[in-house]
Amino acid sequence: MATGDYSAKSGYKAQFELLLFEEAENPTISIDWSANVWDIKTSEKIKVFLWNALQDALPVGEQFAVRNIPLSIRCSRCNEEETVSHLLFTCPYSRKVWKLAPLATSIDVDRVKNTSAGMKIIRRIPSLPLVGLGPGTLTASICWNLWIVRNQLTFQKRDFSPEETLSKAIREAREWSLAQISPINPKLRPPSINQDPPPSTDVPCMYTDAAWNASIGCAGLGWIIDDTTSSSSSYSATAIFVKSPLFAETLAMRRAMTSAIDKGITSLLILSDSQILIKLLNTRGRKLEIAGLLNDIYLLSNAFNAIQFKFIPTEYNDRADSVAKQALYIMS
Ligand SMILES: [Zn+2]
Repeated sequence: MATGDYSAKSGYKAQFELLLFEEAENPTISIDWSANVWDIKTSEKIKVFLWNALQDALPVGEQFAVRNIPLSIRCSRCNEEETVSHLLFTCPYSRKVWKLAPLATSIDVDRVKNTSAGMKIIRRIPSLPLVGLGPGTLTASICWNLWIVRNQLTFQKRDFSPEETLSKAIREAREWSLAQISPINPKLRPPSINQDPPPSTDVPCMYTDAAWNASIGCAGLGWIIDDTTSSSSSYSATAIFVKSPLFAETLAMRRAMTSAIDKGITSLLILSDSQILIKLLNTRGRKLEIAGLLNDIYLLSNAFNAIQFKFIPTEYNDRADSVAKQALYIMS
């Protein structure tokens, strides 16, 4: 059974491919970009903001000059004339944020001649697969947060680093995206994990683990699938913007589950040496720090006929541990 998370991702992919196709087939296609703002997968608040940005209706310096308002027409950060496209794209600060952003395609800010050109580019770009956001969702959140931090600097003299602005944009985009998967839809309701019958001995086992580097906020994720029909296979992935070891362990588990689904595994025993995580999963608990990831795991559980989460002591999890450490080592 497909899960909400999964169908949403393939929907994004299809949408992205369709847009590329549209462009390839119709190089001269003319689209009313301002109207298309309403199709971006983001909150209503951000759509209204983008609409205003495209109408040049944001109160930036340029507008102060047009309306003879005696406020600075210069950017508070770089002293250039402050236009909407400067604020959202070409300001050195905004360039840094776009450069850091985990996007599937990097944004060439030098190609952005005006706000409309910028929107044309950003609305088609999804995040990197690991972040799991479709075309426009993260980029719209970045634009919105660039506006928010600009206002905080201009009016409250509070400054945020490009990294802080980006982290907030990613967090808000993910929260919005996950909230679109209705938790009260009965089809998507998490199964009662504890009530699943214990898997028999011929059920595949999956060992998951993570290695975390606090100083760079990165994690290596590792998992081993001991399939009953074939020999065991090991897998790894990496993640950025990882806040804690528990966050890393939960990411590893989510990533491992999607990998098992890709392999067509329908019954699974998942083993982890994170006692906190296993306890949360088995009590269907909530924890703010990993709330979104836990939701994903509950949703992904729907894809299995039988699934069980079990704690194992670290010494029995050495294979997944070493795969995770190797992945982190390559990143650091
Ligand atoms: Zn500037």
